[in-house]
Order: sequence, then structure tokens, then C-alpha cells
Amino acid sequence: MKGKIAPAGIAVAATDLVKVYGFGPTAIRALDGVSAEFASGEFHAIMGPSGSGKSTLMHCVAGLDAATSGSVRIGDRELTGLSDKALTRLRRTSVGFVFQSFNLLPTLTAEQNILLPLELAGARPDPDWWDTVIAATGLADRLSHRPAEMSGGQQQRVACARALITKPDVVFADEPTGNLDSRAGAEVLGFLRSCVSKLDQTVIMVTHDPAAASYAGRVLFLADGQVAGELLGPTPDTVLDHLRRASDQLRPDSPATASSSSSPADRTSGGAHRARAWTGE
Ligand code: ADP
Ligand code: MG
Repeated sequence: MKGKIAPAGIAVAATDLVKVYGFGPTAIRALDGVSAEFASGEFHAIMGPSGSGKSTLMHCVAGLDAATSGSVRIGDRELTGLSDKALTRLRRTSVGFVFQSFNLLPTLTAEQNILLPLELAGARPDPDWWDTVIAATGLADRLSHRPAEMSGGQQQRVACARALITKPDVVFADEPTGNLDSRAGAEVLGFLRSCVSKLDQTVIMVTHDPAAASYAGRVLFLADGQVAGELLGPTPDTVLDHLRRASDQLRPDSPATASSSSSPADRTSGGAHRARAWTGE
């Protein structure tokens, strides 16, 4: 047991979250009153059309960006009002991140990359947890390799191990399979799922891919910055169905447009936040 989760078993809670980018007539309300709870020990997916606020929600609940109003709780800690220093500490110790582009440091070995968050926090790995995480990645014989010497799927599993090594309250993954072929993607998704089922971790994954979302136990849908339903025990078909119906409701005159193709917004958002996750700047 991790012992860091509030008794209610809620790893992350957002209440009436609003995020407005910009000012005046050009302001964009990326989150428009989102309330959602993410139970601990579960694999959650967040889905929705490009621009619906998925990445913004992830950045706000992960403490990478400040919401305009509303509250965020990770475990029993309220993020609103935390100082920058406290937020940086929280991100380093209580939250793990996996990004689409792996974000490994090219000059470090796999082992050094995995240990980086602990090193930044001035901590050492718990030997049992290290063995457990490395065994789960299946990368024990690749630890001395640098990222360039590894496949995309292997690099992403190193990134997952790096996210897990601090025993975080929650791992956030933004399109973790977006740069992988379907086989490597399935390996990473299977790995994330086993971290939840076997290692009692909590994963919140943003994805636009119904097949990826079906690895989760629950899918939360966003549309236009608002919660637009959820699915428990999703399959690729039920997810697609939900997306089609949602897009029909939003645009009654147009045919269903939900698709699994990546959009520029999905591919490009969050560069500054990625950097902040590791540097604390
Ligand atoms: P998704 O991840 O679902 O594609 P995002 O959360 O990236 O959506 O974006 C939600 C909305 O907020 C979009 O309209 C997007 O253009 C806008 N947005 C996202 N980030 C910024 C930013 N840094 N500045 C201004 N607008 C932004
Ligand atoms: Mg996005």
C-alpha cells in the first residue's frame, strides 16, 4: 500500500475547474466547469475531440498549470494556493508523467533516466520497488543502453518506469502511444494496465484513440471544455459509438466526425509543460 491516498480512495479530484486562455474577446474557455473524480488504483482514460480540453485538464490536475478557478486535489492535498516551490515538490514526489515524445535525456542510460526524478528529489530508490518496476518493464537487460539504442516502445517503457519510480499517487500520460506503431503501443498500454492491476498504481491517460482507451477501466469524455459522459469497461466499439453520438449531438446537421486520426492540437500542445514536469521551472 502506498499510504498517501485520502481514505475516500480518490487519487485526483477536480471541482468546477475553469481555465481561460487569453483575455477579452479572443479569450478561450478551454475548461468550462469540469468536475471529475479519479479513483485510486484504476486506469482512467480521458477522451474527446481535438481542442476539447483534454491536455488542459491534465495539465491543471497535474499541477503543471494553474486553473483560472476551481479546485484540484491530489490525494489529500489541495493544489490551489500551493506555492511554486510546494507545487514543484509535489510534481517530483507525488505525480509521474509520460508524454507522447518519451522525453528521455539522450546522454543518459535507461537506468539513469529512470532514476532522474529521485535524483532531482535527492532520494534513493527503494530496492524492492526498483526490482518490481524493472521486472514489469521487461527491460532488465537494457538498462545500460542509451535512448538512441532502443526502440520507441522500449523508450516509452523507460519513460513509464521513470514515472513510476517515485511511487507517485498518480501517473499522467498524454497520448503515450501517439508516436508508436500499434504493436509497440499495445505493449506500452498493456504495461500501464498491469501497473494498475498488479502494482496498485493509478493512471490517467489522455488519448484520442478508442483502441488505447479500451485498455482503461473507465473513460471520461470531454467536449467543449465540459464533461460529456463516461463509460465503464470500455471496448473500442463502445468508445467509438459514444464519440459518434456525441459529435452528432454537437453538430446535428453534420455526419459523425469522430475519428482516430491525430490532429495538430493533439500533437503539439504542452511543450512548455513537458519541460516543467522535469525541471520544476
Ligand atoms: P485537446 O488536448 O483536447 O486537443 P487542449 O486542452 O490542448 O485540447 O486545448 C483546449 C482549447 O484551449 C483549444 O481551443 C486550444 O486551442 C486552447 N489552448 C490550449 N492551450 C492554449 C494556450 N497555451 N494558449 C491559448 N489557447 C490554448
Ligand atoms: Mg491535447
